Amino acid sequence: MPTALITGITGQDGSYLTELLINKGYTVHGIVRRSSITARGRLDQLFHRDDVYNKQLFLHYADLGDSTTIRRILIKCLPDELYHLAGQSHVGASFDIPETTCDFTAMGTLRLLEILRDLEKQPRFLHISSSEIFGRPDHWPQNETTPMNPVTPYGIAKAFATQMVALYRESFGLFACNAICYNHESPRRGESFVTRKITRAAAAISMGKQKTLSLGSLDGQRDWGFAPEYVDAMWRMLQQPQADDFVIATGTAHSVKDFLSASFAAVDLDWTDYVQQDPRYMRPSEGTRLVGDPSKASKQLQWDAQTKVPELAKIMVQSDLARLSD
Ligand code: GDP
Repeated sequence: MPTALITGITGQDGSYLTELLINKGYTVHGIVRRSSITARGRLDQLFHRDDVYNKQLFLHYADLGDSTTIRRILIKCLPDELYHLAGQSHVGASFDIPETTCDFTAMGTLRLLEILRDLEKQPRFLHISSSEIFGRPDHWPQNETTPMNPVTPYGIAKAFATQMVALYRESFGLFACNAICYNHESPRRGESFVTRKITRAAAAISMGKQKTLSLGSLDGQRDWGFAPEYVDAMWRMLQQPQADDFVIATGTAHSVKDFLSASFAAVDLDWTDYVQQDPRYMRPSEGTRLVGDPSKASKQLQWDAQTKVPELAKIMVQSDLARLSD
């Protein structure tokens, strides 16, 4: 059976991808950053399975800045597929820590590509790119040929990484792909992203555990899909005969207000009674109406998003209700 290596294995997507690959019979290696607090909650279920942990699933410590260690792990594991999901993924935070964001997200990807270039056995490589590369696009929906126009440090770092992946594919013959993913959410989404912040608040307010919800701009529109489906698209990309880039999206734009409305409706509340705007959560600059055209993925990967807002909001609110009542 094939072997996969995942950077960012402890994140939302890393954990869903690990489950998918383990179920397909892969051996999975994950790279984790060494820190005093180990945030591995999302992988807990797999860690507690004696038939999986250290038999089919292995973890290795390395920082994306530590090329020597990453090279050593690659030579030791000899993966058939490498999924590069790690990075500083919060757009708002990228304004506070732009250097870290560019170091992890842009340079981290380039360093990996450089290591792959020298390997005798080169794995198929998937880089998770982002709709943030389009920033303020001049047409809707965006597809694989839409010009990049990023307007955030995160978007700029991702645009650099995305172009490097395409360059290494074209110039050095690497099997390297960009999954240009639009926002994808789940009960495992970090609590500082707007969807999870909203579903957690809707659940907490309905249980009397929270009174109000403070948000930034409500004007942005995003194309929100369900994360487990997006990691399936990533896997499909690496099974293609040729490396290529794909937009992974639902094709439908929703405003933050739509997501609020769907989430509070799931607990029979009206969001306008609880939400207040707080300048602390406003961004200096922001992507506008980001909505993807997934027709290439639909045609070539036979992949279509199944779960959309408001069902997505309902799944997340229900999970938060269960978590808060534990
Ligand atoms: P992003 O698309 O990767 O930036 O995903 P986020 O979930 O962080 O933000 C989605 C949209 O929600 C953006 O337009 C944000 O400006 C908006 N937003 C409004 N209030 C908040 C907030 O309190 N936190 C976050 N993270 N986003 C907010």
